[in-house]
Amino acid sequence: MGKRILVTGGAGFLGSHLCERLLKAGNDILCVDNFFTGRKLNIAHLLDNPYFEILRHDITFSLFVEVDEIYNLACPASPVHYQFDPVQTTKTSVMGAINMLGLAKRLKIKILQASTSEIYGDPDVHPQPENYRGNVNTLGPRACYDEGKRCAETLFFDYYRQNQVKIKVIRIFNTYGPRMHPNDGRVVSNFIVQALKNEDITIYGDGCQTRSFCYVDDLIDGMVKMMNSRIDFTGPVNIGNPDEFSILELAEKVIDMTNSKSKIVYNSLPEDDPRQRQPLIDLAKKELDWEPRIKLKEGLVKTIAYFDKLLKGSD
Ligand code: NAD
Ligand code: UDP
Repeated sequence: MGKRILVTGGAGFLGSHLCERLLKAGNDILCVDNFFTGRKLNIAHLLDNPYFEILRHDITFSLFVEVDEIYNLACPASPVHYQFDPVQTTKTSVMGAINMLGLAKRLKIKILQASTSEIYGDPDVHPQPENYRGNVNTLGPRACYDEGKRCAETLFFDYYRQNQVKIKVIRIFNTYGPRMHPNDGRVVSNFIVQALKNEDITIYGDGCQTRSFCYVDDLIDGMVKMMNSRIDFTGPVNIGNPDEFSILELAEKVIDMTNSKSKIVYNSLPEDDPRQRQPLIDLAKKELDWEPRIKLKEGLVKTIAYFDKLLKGSD
């Protein structure tokens, strides 16, 4: 018999892939989303499944349901979206965590938190191990997200120590793939959409800053493995692909793979934009027997195909 699993943020990019994966494994899914950045289109193909249920709800408010496990993903992840209403972003991370942890405490169930590499801020340790404490500007425009996620981690570990809640914390590094929102604002979707439309590719800064990009299927494997890992393994554990690229390299790759006529233009670098980012994944390898399998080029082929179809459909 499958489990009844609550996925918050289930209509978003990662959440929709997670719902699909958990349904395929024979579970009963309750997807909770306020549709801030999530879309019904992401989960439309699941709506006919009798084991899939969607509830429009904002997790900053209490939720009373009966489930066996919680994946807490609700939170806008793109800088453009999380900076649109920064107070709501912090509320979602902090009050959302309190509400979901309260639910896990009452039901005595496991809860997984989708934390982020952003808790390392603009890192001066490279690559980033889990015991690195980070370099976050508490006052800057990214703080609503970074500090919200840091406080959520604190809450998870306090509920673990104080109330014996069974917690699992993963720190997700830049993940991309089909079902990213075309206006999401994140670099992979921006570059692909711009290249497919033969519009200018907007590099912020000089393009020397780096990121390490993980394909969504690999990320979901790691997330599910973490939920099912030995009960006393709380994390935090980095989940990401250690292959690191500069943003300029990414732009050139996307132009090449789409045969685009786009030109690269250089815009100003947003405040506090991290200069470098690469996960150390030794802990995930050891504890979860997990490592990413999909190379950037292979993942980009699939993602480009998705956006190509989407853009042709919206003509
Ligand atoms: P996304 O924006 O596509 O999905 C977030 C979902 O949460 C959306 O469906 C949105 O409508 C929903 N949501 C936002 N606020 C809510 C609220 N108050 N109540 C209920 N639902 C709410 O982003 P994503 O890329 O799928 O990210 C999912 C999670 O993973 C986030 O918590 C994010 O911080 C984390 N994460 C993602 C990445 C990445 O590269 N994709 C990296 C690090 C961490
Ligand atoms: N970026 C860029 N052009 C874009 C969007 C983003 O050069 O059109 C840069 C951004 O400044 C950052 C990197 O790409 O250095 C990754 O940005 P993203 O918003 O995807 O994620 P994050 O900064 O949160 O890692």
